[in-house]
Amino acid sequence: MGQIFGPVPSRRLGFSLGVDTIPFKTCSLNCIYCQLGRTINKTIQRKEYIAADDISREIEEVLREGKRIDYITFSGSGEPTLNSEIRRMISRIKELTSIPLAILTNGTLLYRPRIREDLMEADLVIPSLDTVTQEIFEMVNRPHPSLKIEKVITGIDSFSQEFNGKVWLEIMVVKGINDSLEEIEKAAQVIKQMNLEKIQLNTVVRPPAEEFARPLTREDLNNIKTVLGKKCEIIAEFKRATQKAYKRDVEKSILSMVKRRPVTLVDISHSLGLHRNEIIKYVETLEKKHQVKTEVHSGERYYR
Ligand code: SF4
Repeated sequence: MGQIFGPVPSRRLGFSLGVDTIPFKTCSLNCIYCQLGRTINKTIQRKEYIAADDISREIEEVLREGKRIDYITFSGSGEPTLNSEIRRMISRIKELTSIPLAILTNGTLLYRPRIREDLMEADLVIPSLDTVTQEIFEMVNRPHPSLKIEKVITGIDSFSQEFNGKVWLEIMVVKGINDSLEEIEKAAQVIKQMNLEKIQLNTVVRPPAEEFARPLTREDLNNIKTVLGKKCEIIAEFKRATQKAYKRDVEKSILSMVKRRPVTLVDISHSLGLHRNEIIKYVETLEKKHQVKTEVHSGERYYR
């Protein structure tokens, strides 16, 4: 299983089976808050980075295991829409299952009509838009030099009008960088014209690419939420029932989770359906074998 991971507990999608369409770490942005670290290949060039056949074969195998999956989610090692075969991947998954399909995208390439068309069969698309100002875009998202924020906004807006599924817009706010009242008010005006079901406000809760990317407090987020209006919600912590996992697969499953993103003990515990005390034994062993590292961020320990 190279490109499929989880199901992992997600703060907004329940148990999410991740589909990674991109080699680590290929993206059109290099966000200061990225939980995957710095971008290695900053590009806007689409390619068949991973074959559609490989993805559908892996999905088929996972579906046969009968685990609880609330969403199949395109995310992972970078920007999923950079894979030129994403449309075929979506169609194949739709033939295999009726589980809803979500795409997490940084939205930067939605100005291209072809990419907007490629996503039409999805059920939910979550583009990001952290700022509406070019200067701040360059500070927080460090984009590919060809990307201009006006074009990104136009792309997300067009997609939101054309798409029949749900669009949730994610805004990641970083302390002292894109959190000024002036910037948030400007963003609120721009976002108002888009056809969105939700606006999801997020902050730096996992270890970021740059140490200077700091989180906002709950109170700061509440103030921003008021400006952004009724559709806006602060992404809540994940709380769901656990699910069963095969014990012989525990070590392999933990390694597969920590390889993709930093996770807490609780995340691992929810995903594998095992008690935290049991998980501790595995991660201790993996730490001793130098396969897992830990770090503390905002008072919480993460495993990578
Ligand atoms: S946060 Fe997402 S968009 Fe930003 S660099 Fe990381 S993968 Fe790319």
